[in-house]
Amino acid sequence: MIQLAEGIAPPQAALDALKRYQQEVTDAGKYSEQVVKAKERFSAYNKKGNLAFDAVKVTLTAMCSGARRCCYCEDAPADEVEHIWPKDLYPERAFRWENYLYACGPCNGPKNNGFAIFQGDAVRSVARKPMAPVVPPPTGDTVLIDPRYEDPLEFLILDLKTWRFQASAPEGTRDERRATYTLTLLHLNDREYLRQAREEAFEGYVALLEKYITRRDAGKDTQPTRGALRRRGHPTVWREMQRQWDKYDELRSLFGQAPEAQSKDFLEA
Ligand SMILES: [Zn+2]
Repeated sequence: MIQLAEGIAPPQAALDALKRYQQEVTDAGKYSEQVVKAKERFSAYNKKGNLAFDAVKVTLTAMCSGARRCCYCEDAPADEVEHIWPKDLYPERAFRWENYLYACGPCNGPKNNGFAIFQGDAVRSVARKPMAPVVPPPTGDTVLIDPRYEDPLEFLILDLKTWRFQASAPEGTRDERRATYTLTLLHLNDREYLRQAREEAFEGYVALLEKYITRRDAGKDTQPTRGALRRRGHPTVWREMQRQWDKYDELRSLFGQAPEAQSKDFLEA
């Protein structure tokens, strides 16, 4: 799960169109009508040829890692405009730019209307059950980590042996509950192929870093190797290598030979 770059937005014309679409939802009147309208209008507008959504998708693509990889799992191609706050529960956010990210079907599908809030320190799901009355969800702080505003790696740590994420905060704390809820809702640990992909990404990053050191020591241009590192999938694996290099012999040796690779700016330079 990656934090999306801030300060990127679609052109003003697209944002203005989203505002108009949102107004149509508001104009539907009471909450239950807004829920129906949000769903119906989103299906109608979120189509190829709609200039606003075409622009939204171009911008969301630029915010993805690698070759337009899903912002949740970092693995599969992203092809769905996902509402972080589900539009069925929060129709007032159906056309909010800040509520969008690009996700893949296997992440977006099961998440569906899953959402939870804190009531005191308890996590309360607000997902609407089938046939339940369509009323606004209770208010409270959001539990799901919001990668538009938050860095998931402030809550999560990737174990570089099991390739599973863990909560970094102590058990029972709010931050731990947020991490655990997010991992469960998005199935970030229980998909075997994701763990395999993280391990493969790790091997790829190691090979590229070795190549970088060889080229640097031979006085060759390292720019192409750094470009390859930047484009490699599963950027969280790279960030965790930077964060945890001193815990593993193999990484200690590599990052010791290339201390510049420990820096966050290494791939930007
Ligand atoms: Zn995904």
